[in-house]
Amino acid sequence: MKVLVTGGAGFIGSHIVEALIESRYDVVVVDNLVTGHEKNLPPAVRFYKQDVRMNLDDLFAAENPDYVIHQAAQVSVSHSFIDPLYDCEENILATLNILQACVRHNVKKVVFASTAAVYGNPVYLPVDEAHPLLPISFYGLTKGHAEKCIQIYADTHQLDYSILRYANVYGPRQDARGEAGVISIFIEKLIQGEEPIIFGDGKQTRDFIFVKDVARANVAALTNGSKEILNIGTGKEVSIQEIINKLAMIIEKPVQPLLRPAREGDIRSSVLQNERAQLMLSWSPGHSLEEGLRETVRFYQQASLAGSRG
Ligand code: NAD
Repeated sequence: MKVLVTGGAGFIGSHIVEALIESRYDVVVVDNLVTGHEKNLPPAVRFYKQDVRMNLDDLFAAENPDYVIHQAAQVSVSHSFIDPLYDCEENILATLNILQACVRHNVKKVVFASTAAVYGNPVYLPVDEAHPLLPISFYGLTKGHAEKCIQIYADTHQLDYSILRYANVYGPRQDARGEAGVISIFIEKLIQGEEPIIFGDGKQTRDFIFVKDVARANVAALTNGSKEILNIGTGKEVSIQEIINKLAMIIEKPVQPLLRPAREGDIRSSVLQNERAQLMLSWSPGHSLEEGLRETVRFYQQASLAGSRG
């Protein structure tokens, strides 16, 4: 079975590519490398350096994928306020373009990377899939629209889907500018011998999920569950201060974070209920926070060593 991964050279996409190869899928990647890197891709993968907003018929005709995992997007919440039109192009129009190609070329199923940002400020915790959609950024808004486009397309054509709403994803290869860059930013600071900055009192919470668990959820969604919207998180609320404490333990150094005023628009608490994903995908997050952080720290330490060797 062949899977086309859009955005496969990015942070999460490249881990999905690895998980697919491990599960013996034939993998093709399309990515314009706007934030991704070709070095993230294993050599066995066929790669098209192409923009998913452009016509994809030639690519789909040449590759004939059975499934599409759609990760390519504009992913920065703050950038979405600077250029909301770009978010519309990247997150809505590109998704429609991919859906049209899927229908024209008989793709069985699309797995879509959505986000907890579609919920906005939680009205209750943990946030389940029935929580009202109250996005407070153009990023969350455009991802929510993309979800609706997928549902309407699936209802009117022979196309199955899984929409996966990720919590805050962290792990190796994350770009510190990403949606949940806070862990990579902290680790990079600590490796450079600098103190990390916390905006607020450090008691704000998030649901941090390790990237390899997100990748496994995507692979599971190819064959499990039909027309489902599923939260992909750990179900565990972790404070920013707890992250700092765990990192200090892992790198075996005391850490004194610099406290700065909370930023406007930052959500106080967030955690996703993941029971439905566990049930529908026969999946559960396999990495504890400590295991995920250790693997991430190791990655940044090795990258820093390789960088200093030139
Ligand atoms: P990323 O920026 O590392 O990956 C996005 C990839 O898409 C990049 O390789 C980029 O080059 C590519 N891309 C962007 N626009 C493209 C276009 N028009 N044509 C072709 N390729 C294009 O970001 P990521 O963190 O890996 O995010 C992957 C997906 O997960 C996104 O859809 C994002 O919205 C979603 N998501 C991420 C998080 C997170 O915590 N990182 C949380 C929720 C949802």
